Order: sequence, then C-alpha cells, then structure tokens
Amino acid sequence: MGTGYVGLVTGLCLAELGHDVTCLDVVEEKVASINRGVNPLYEEGLDELLERHLNERFIASTDLSMAKDTDVTFICVGTPSREDGSLDLTYLKEAARELGEIIAKKEGHHLVVVKSTVMPGTTEDVVTPILENSSGRIVGEGLGVAMNPEFLREGTAVRDFMEPDRVVIGASDKRSREILGEIFGGFDCPVLEVGVSAAEMIKVASNAFLATKISFINEIGNLCKDMGIDVRDVVRGMGHDSRISPKFLRAGCGFGGSCFPKDVRGLAAESRRRGMEPIMLDALLKVNELQPERLVQLLESRMDVMGAGISVMGLAFKPGTDDIRESRAIPLVRLLLERGADVHCYDPKATEGFRRLFPQVTYHQSPEECVESSDAVVIVTEWPEFGDPGLYGDRLVIDGRGVVRTTNYDGICW
Ligand code: NAD
Repeated sequence: MGTGYVGLVTGLCLAELGHDVTCLDVVEEKVASINRGVNPLYEEGLDELLERHLNERFIASTDLSMAKDTDVTFICVGTPSREDGSLDLTYLKEAARELGEIIAKKEGHHLVVVKSTVMPGTTEDVVTPILENSSGRIVGEGLGVAMNPEFLREGTAVRDFMEPDRVVIGASDKRSREILGEIFGGFDCPVLEVGVSAAEMIKVASNAFLATKISFINEIGNLCKDMGIDVRDVVRGMGHDSRISPKFLRAGCGFGGSCFPKDVRGLAAESRRRGMEPIMLDALLKVNELQPERLVQLLESRMDVMGAGISVMGLAFKPGTDDIRESRAIPLVRLLLERGADVHCYDPKATEGFRRLFPQVTYHQSPEECVESSDAVVIVTEWPEFGDPGLYGDRLVIDGRGVVRTTNYDGICW
C-alpha cells in the first residue's frame, strides 16, 4: 500500500524474490503508468524489474480490496512533516483504516507491516488500534502487526533493497515474526528481531546519526574554508580511522530529500513533546539550513548577483534520482531570485518537478546550454556529468559538492 519510492521498489524487489505482488495506490495516473510498463519514478534497475515482472508476478491497482487476496500488506505511504516538525500520520491512519476494513472481509490470517518511517510507539499506539477497530480482529487472532523499517537510499534503491546491511523486524507476535523471517531470511545479512518501538527508533536514529555526520563535517568544512584548509584532505585523514569512516563525511551545501530533514525534525518534535530539549538535533538542522546561504554569500563575494545570469546545476536532492523533496536547490533558487538574479536551471532527471515549484526560472535541455546562458554557475547536485571542467570555460564556478575544479572557481568548504 503506497506505491512511491519505497512501495514500488519494495514491490518489484519482492516480485524479483519470487513473491506475487500487488502494488496499491490511490493515484490513478501512477497505477496506470506502471501497468503500461512505465515507471513513474526514476531509479536505476527499476525499469528492468518492471519489464520482467509486470503481469507475471506483479501488478499495480487502485482497487485496495485486492489486499484481500494476499497474505501480507506492507504499508509504505508517506509520513511528511507537519508544521511543528512532528510526522503527519494522516495517510498512515487512512491506509490502516481501509486495510482493516478489507481484512474484515477476508478469511484467514493477515499480516500488516508498517514500512513507512514513524516515531517510536506509532505502530502499537496508532496503527494497531485502528486496524483492530476496523477489522474487528485482535492482534494474535487472525491479525498480525509488525514494523519493518526501510533503509534503501534513493539513487541506489534497488541494490540497497536486494543487498541490505541488515533487516530489522519488530513484530507483535511469533507468527508475524516467522512470516517476515521467511520473506527476508534469504538475504546475506543479519536479521535483527527487536521490539516494535525499537524497530521504529532504529530507523529514525540511524537517519539522525547520518544527518549529524553531514552537518558535523559541514561545520568543520566552514571553519576549514575560513582557515584556508581543504576539508577534503581533512576528511581523508579522519576517514582512515575505522571508528569514524569516511562515509557521510562529505562536506557540501547540505542534505535534503524526503527523509533526513523530516525524520530529524520528527525526533526533535518528539523530544520537545516529552519536555526534553533536542540540543544536537536542533543544531544539526540549523547547520543544514545555513549551507545554501553560504553558497550565495560565496557567489556574492565574487560578483554582483542582481540582474546577473546564474546557472544552477542540479535540482534533485542527490544524483541518481528525480526526487526534489527538500533539495538544497530549493532554498538556493529562492535566495537567488530574492537577490534579483536571472536564474537558469539544469538537471538530467528532476526538471519537471522543479518547474512546478519555480515556473518563473529558465530550464535547459543540456548542461552546455544552461552554462552558456549565464555569467556564473552554482553546482548543487553531484551528477557525474558536471565533473567535466571543459563545460564551464572561464566562467565563475561556485561548487557546493566538490565535483569539478576549474580556473575560475570557489568551493563551499575548500
Ligand atoms: P512517496 O510519497 O513517494 O509514496 C507514498 C505513496 O503512498 C504515494 O504514491 C501515495 O499516493 C500513496 N498513498 C497515500 N495514501 C494511500 C492510501 N491510503 N492507500 C494507498 N496508497 C496511498 O513516499 P516514499 O518516499 O516512498 O516514502 C514512504 C515512506 O517510507 C515514508 O514514511 C518515508 O519516510 C519512508 N522512507 C522513504 C525512503 C526514501 O528514500 N524515499 C527510504 C526509507 C523510508
């Protein structure tokens, strides 16, 4: 249930593992597109999976009652941020209610697995009561409930799903644990059985930790820049320490995406709700907010932005995806527009989504065309094609990701 980045990848990968899968969603165009053989989102390896399994072991549908003919339902609906930072459970509650009503009409056991990212306590305190009410069953008697967090990264989602570092299962009862153990038992990785709330916390704490690493190195990187040190040399030296590792220690213009910002905000809101001050979580979010401003300050230290043509290279929140949710390109473009720049944008995959947010800027079909239309370039996403120095000539390049080195160049933290 929920055929977005997580649901579609999960569905197609489970089909690849030999299961019969129905991907359910409420958005008709999405479902129709999948059933025509066209993936509604870009993710490496996904087209091949759809081609292989569509109408064989895999189908998409808006008819949620099809869940009745299955044994297990993974709920993969979105859990976006609310204004106060807490996670909005509207879609999750709705999905649980609808699913419960469907389970009420089915014979035999049904396992419901929450895959959406939620705060600890949500599956047991929110999802389970809704399911029990609407299905007329209780957990352990014809109904199983589990939480199985998803750790896939957009851009490498299929590989991450098929080759996980670990699988986490938080199940309400023995039968649910066994079913999930069977589904995921074939992976060559530890399968951890923990309490339901611990499974939920493992996911959000992992994301908060990774986001902390990024903001930490960005703060060190900002200091390095001021002191004339290349933070990338520092990271090389730090990363060889096996206690630290170089992963997620890449300084730049900050993290975006549909997970890190919202999950950290969610944890911070949960801490506040419990009367605690989330000192570290607040700080890492603040560092992240300021990085796009640093890019603009760097640009302004080299030229007058008002009326100038500025190319923004990369709109997706990371390479390998068309997802622009909380991309650092969003605050950057907003800041450039506020300063009166003539903004030109290029991204190989994410233009359409961005155009809906910023119809007033100019979009280009190729990186060459975008660069040629401007006086200076700001690199926001590390698409490999931006790494060719020949692309930029002697234009000023402000690099937010460390993808290139040109003659007229400045880097955010180096
Ligand atoms: P998404 O917005 O891409 O997809 C959610 C889908 O759910 C949408 O297609 C929507 O139409 C559908 N939906 C909403 N209500 C529904 C209902 N009642 N019945 C059926 N479908 C319904 O979201 P996503 O990026 O796939 O994320 C889903 C969840 O997984 C979130 O909680 C997210 O935090 C978590 N997560 C995301 C990632 C990621 O990289 N995107 C990774 C791990 C975990």
